[in-house]
Amino acid sequence: CGIIGIVGNQPVADRLIESLKRLEYRGYDSAGIAGQVDGVLQRRRAPGKLRELESVLAHEPLIATTGIGHTRWATHGAPTLRNAHPHIVGKVAVVHNGIIENFAELKAELIAAGREFQSDTDTEVVAHLLDAELATGLAPLEAFKATLDRLRGAFALCVLIGGEDEVILAARNGPPLAVGYGDGEMFVGSDGLALGPFTNRVAYLHDGDYVILNHTGAKIFDQAGQVADRPIKIVPASA
Ligand code: GLU
Repeated sequence: CGIIGIVGNQPVADRLIESLKRLEYRGYDSAGIAGQVDGVLQRRRAPGKLRELESVLAHEPLIATTGIGHTRWATHGAPTLRNAHPHIVGKVAVVHNGIIENFAELKAELIAAGREFQSDTDTEVVAHLLDAELATGLAPLEAFKATLDRLRGAFALCVLIGGEDEVILAARNGPPLAVGYGDGEMFVGSDGLALGPFTNRVAYLHDGDYVILNHTGAKIFDQAGQVADRPIKIVPASA
């Protein structure tokens, strides 16, 4: 399973797929990508191998310059199309690796508040929580932090927000997550390998870190919400 996000200055769908191929070795049972098209979130998903997603994209291209991608190793919910990431709720698209341990109580709370679920995953609570925080008027970064503060478990997350065309939010609490620095483009992914085709300048997030990416850079925060300095390392070129 793996995660990739690109704030690009050219179309990203092919590059998201290229990166997911590099994460194939981890194993997965579905794959998907999401992007912004004229400020509106769109996604393409497919159960099975990446070539299934590629054939969906061949019929229905996704033309976006900012996007996120995922390969899923199902832990909560069967390995079906309905449970494939990204999960979209309102203005929020989420990809997630790992487990949200308190998802059942969060889901019960969200359902009691009138929210309807479209999947059987633990992940979907993250999308609902963030959508609800945004609806209160919080800015994306503050809404993301408020959401993270409610989650227990081991997870890596990557998020797109509809209308926030050139921004990606990501967080690490357990599984590794790396930020890649390009030329007018920024990347975030499960490891340096996932970023290898795009850049060799990589900063590794610490547990509890979260980050907001745009074209020009990344602002990384620690669990306490303080700006964190994570050094950029040069990773050896990979084939
Ligand atoms: N727990 C999530 C799910 O089952 C994410 C699994 C993963 O790490 O891919 O959908």
